[in-house]
Amino acid sequence: MNTREMFAKAIKGGYAIPAFNFNNMEQLQAIIKAAAETKSPVILQVSKGARNYANQTLLRYMAQGAVEYAKELGWEKPQIVLHLDHGDSFELCKSCVDFGFSSVMIDASSLPYEENIALTKKVVEYAHKYDVTVEAELGVLAGVEDEVSSAVSHYTKPEEVVDFATRTGCDSLAISIGTSHGAYKFTPEQCTRDPKTGKLVPPPLAFDVLDAVMEQLPGFPIVLHGSSSVPQEYVDMINSLGGKLPDAIGIPEEQLRQAAKSAVCKINIDSDSRLAFTAAVRKVLTEKPGEFDPRKYCGVARDFMEELYKHKIIDVLGSDGKAE
Ligand SMILES: [Zn+2]
Repeated sequence: MNTREMFAKAIKGGYAIPAFNFNNMEQLQAIIKAAAETKSPVILQVSKGARNYANQTLLRYMAQGAVEYAKELGWEKPQIVLHLDHGDSFELCKSCVDFGFSSVMIDASSLPYEENIALTKKVVEYAHKYDVTVEAELGVLAGVEDEVSSAVSHYTKPEEVVDFATRTGCDSLAISIGTSHGAYKFTPEQCTRDPKTGKLVPPPLAFDVLDAVMEQLPGFPIVLHGSSSVPQEYVDMINSLGGKLPDAIGIPEEQLRQAAKSAVCKINIDSDSRLAFTAAVRKVLTEKPGEFDPRKYCGVARDFMEELYKHKIIDVLGSDGKAE
């Protein structure tokens, strides 16, 4: 399904839909199990990097298989979207629409304003012919995610959003309010440090910008990218087992919970599952150095990710039980 009805319900209901990226089978299994068991609508996201890593044909049929798997798990009417994350050209978005995706993102946020509008509009016109919904972006997020990277963030300008949404016809809008891609969302200079734990405390999200956007576009679906929380239990586990992730830091979950209650109806989480996967693999291989069956460590990684996804759905996004 596309995102239209899903988002309308989420805004009314004061929750957000999880958008989880997937690159491999274990990740997809964990996402579907978590969504099926909690009866949460879910958006499966494929980035350009994932298409390059796993092959676009495989990913597309994996997603189709996931719908059948969800039914096997007892979820009679699964609500699953297959979405392109950070499409950077008309050709890529068109290829995903032609390939059966139900939703695409065109991210032209690094282009000048008028060029962002022109490219987004072109994608919208094509996608809507096939009832595929389109997410666009205004403002620039800092951080690194696959091919998307920027050193600094520029908050979305609330005075631009009505003009942008009207002229492009986009279905949802990703905005920049201080979230950031990757596991190093903030430099130590941007943070304060907790004197007790020595851990970094990130600057708060710009809820004033979000409020101003919502005032301009009442009821319009808003999307937050770069919204991993970088759970310190995984970071500590990785670091204590030979890893090196100094000062990895994310967005506090209370702030995401607060955002989910507003017009923010899609929250993107990718890095957290990468951390869960890596922590699990390091744990198994450290505890059992003789292990060489990938199912033994990828299986534990899958359990870690499933637990993480359920926690996000129930405790952060509030989307459990919304797709009965
Ligand atoms: Zn993103």
